[in-house]
Amino acid sequence: MSSPSAPTIVIVGGVAGGASAATRARRMNEHAEIILLEKDEHVSFANCGLPYYVGGEIAERQKLLVATPQFLARRFRIDVRTRHDAVHIDRAAKTLAVRNQASGETYPLAYDKLILAPGAAPLVPALPGGDAANVFTLRNMQDTDRIKAAADGCRAKRAVVVGSGYIGLEMVEQLVRLGFQVTLAELQPQVLPLVDPEIAQPLHDAMRRHGVTVHVGDGIKRVLTDDRNAATGIELQSGQAVAAELVILGLGVRPNVALASQAGLTIGASGGIATNEYQQTNDPDIYAVGDACEYVFGPTGQAQRIALAGPANRAGRLAGEHAATGRSLPMAPVLGTSIVRVFDRTAGMTGLSARQAARLGIPACSVTVVANQHAGYFPGAVPLTLKLTFAPTTGRVLGAQAVGADGVDKRIDVLATALTLQATVRDLAGLDLAYAPPFGSAKDPVHLAAFAACNQLDGLEEFLDADADLSGMQVVEVRTVAEVAQTPLASAPRAINIPVDELRQRLGELDPALPTVVSCGVGLRGHVAARILKQHGFADVKNLSGGATIRNRIV
Ligand code: FAD
Repeated sequence: MSSPSAPTIVIVGGVAGGASAATRARRMNEHAEIILLEKDEHVSFANCGLPYYVGGEIAERQKLLVATPQFLARRFRIDVRTRHDAVHIDRAAKTLAVRNQASGETYPLAYDKLILAPGAAPLVPALPGGDAANVFTLRNMQDTDRIKAAADGCRAKRAVVVGSGYIGLEMVEQLVRLGFQVTLAELQPQVLPLVDPEIAQPLHDAMRRHGVTVHVGDGIKRVLTDDRNAATGIELQSGQAVAAELVILGLGVRPNVALASQAGLTIGASGGIATNEYQQTNDPDIYAVGDACEYVFGPTGQAQRIALAGPANRAGRLAGEHAATGRSLPMAPVLGTSIVRVFDRTAGMTGLSARQAARLGIPACSVTVVANQHAGYFPGAVPLTLKLTFAPTTGRVLGAQAVGADGVDKRIDVLATALTLQATVRDLAGLDLAYAPPFGSAKDPVHLAAFAACNQLDGLEEFLDADADLSGMQVVEVRTVAEVAQTPLASAPRAINIPVDELRQRLGELDPALPTVVSCGVGLRGHVAARILKQHGFADVKNLSGGATIRNRIV
């Protein structure tokens, strides 16, 4: 018998959001009845680990099964019903119709509180040949087992991955690990379209270095098949054919909202179930969490879908607590903080990219720095690119993106924390970060980006976007002659090369009345040069953001 202090909590979906909700509900209320419905065979498995199991980097399948139904029953007294689909919600009667796949029967299940965590389904466009054997999407254990079996049985070892979001990129890496010759096809002009082009470019390079053929700006038109309807490759929209016996579609996801919308729950403009800060839908006894719902996106304050594991786990935990006790902390705004490894490169982001800000009409400035991930004099130093996006007047941090071989995770996490706490670039400049030579620099890349941003806010320095049209400007290259000869600045044929250490002596070669842009390797010597020119009467001087390194990635 349920009572306010011992509610019946039914949870739909037993993985990231659902399992978090169930276990938190139990920890907060020993007397609740908690029923977890999962339409598939497994609960609480590690979705994020699936590509690494396919590739063999995670060797044991068992390791993916984070918590079994037996464990959830034993430790948390949760009634886990796998192969049980929630098929209908009757909000007036507060019951759920549940179909038991084993018996075929449908039965009513009463709830006091209902938590919807049904996740999302891979997007599969209606493609000719899309139903062929060996065309896969990756979402759950069954998909994983099928892909692994197909990969093991594939003699020619040729694969094509369509779509270069996080899952697509991870599959590319893992298929190469399995010895496949891999082609990646992406409709957008760059891989990982969420990030700005200069952050994505090193990922292109890493894939090419590892033998991957990358097609950008060219999506899939159809799957090519043999007379047994098995995939033999794909045809791209350009008409080019790519031979492959394994086709992986990583084209994003659509939220599973049918159950919610049939029950009259509000679906937000982004297509996810609308919720308040306690993850309650427009029916206060029904919560929604995870890929199926909307969250408040921190930098804009707008509701949107963010299909990531962190928010799903945190929202599940809060909803479980709220359902079990009637209260919880509110869900903090979500930033879309994410990270991906592509061979020897890692890219990550949090908050807004510069391109997203422009698309949304949000005033934003960006600075890009290229600096070693730890002290340059310590073995193993490698450059990391960090792009910081901030509000032009207040300096409030709006987003950050980074790419490098090492140390991307810590910078992105520091900056995600800054965003959460609504810090400004001035706060970043004063952060007291851990430093010893193997780990960082006394001036961390986070500081360098913040210093550049503060210089801009203070009017000490103006940046020019790395891909700007330089015609009509006096372009001053302040790298050494040898550096310029080795890697000329892209699309700057009339650049005047005056190394920074000669600049004071050679000012006469320049016209102080002209709009001037200085460029160096990564922007550091450009800063020094810009300060020299400014203080010698050059009124309009800009530093090319990220110097030749960044411009040459994107122009
Ligand atoms: P899920 O974890 O998908 O769980 C939903 C469950 O609900 C499913 O098991 C489904 O079968 C069940 N269900 C649906 N409808 C019903 C119904 N009517 N009745 C009963 N059960 C139902 N995110 C990251 O942040 N980092 C990563 O590295 C990362 N890597 C990923 C790699 C892969 C291959 C995949 C697929 C996802 C990855 N994600 C990653 C995304 C992350 O896994 C999801 O954001 C997260 O799992 C969403 O949690 P959820 O609870 O909303 O959905």
